[in-house]
Amino acid sequence: MVTKGKQRIPVLAGAWTTPSSTREKPQLIGSKCRSCGEVYFPKRNKMLCPHCQKETLEDIKLSRRGKLDTFTVVMQKPGGGYYFGPVPYALGVIELPDAVYVEAPLKVEKFKDLSVGIDMELVIEKVWEDPDGNELIGFKFKPI
Ligand SMILES: [Zn+2]
Repeated sequence: MVTKGKQRIPVLAGAWTTPSSTREKPQLIGSKCRSCGEVYFPKRNKMLCPHCQKETLEDIKLSRRGKLDTFTVVMQKPGGGYYFGPVPYALGVIELPDAVYVEAPLKVEKFKDLSVGIDMELVIEKVWEDPDGNELIGFKFKPI
């Protein structure tokens, strides 16, 4: 009998760093243009900067903390069958000090704890587990 090990599958491949020690924490990976300074998330696969049209993009590690710019509470499962997590859930946009906005689910005990402008921090954790025990791993932001 072959037993397949439980897999940890990222929702977006290569979107964050994998720490090599417990002292390090994961960071989202973006792209920054060396020419015009524009920052993108998720990172772009090509060197071409859509803003200035030069091939001067490089990967950067984004800040782990930012401010909640806007959010909503989703009460109903989105259609299409591609969302498996529980509802309701909070979805927000985080403004990072790297001059980029990141859309992400929010990890929060009570939705009333959320308000625009509060400090948020990145967490990487299980989003969902499939019937075979494989874990889907995603990024979220939680209030600090
Ligand atoms: Zn540019």
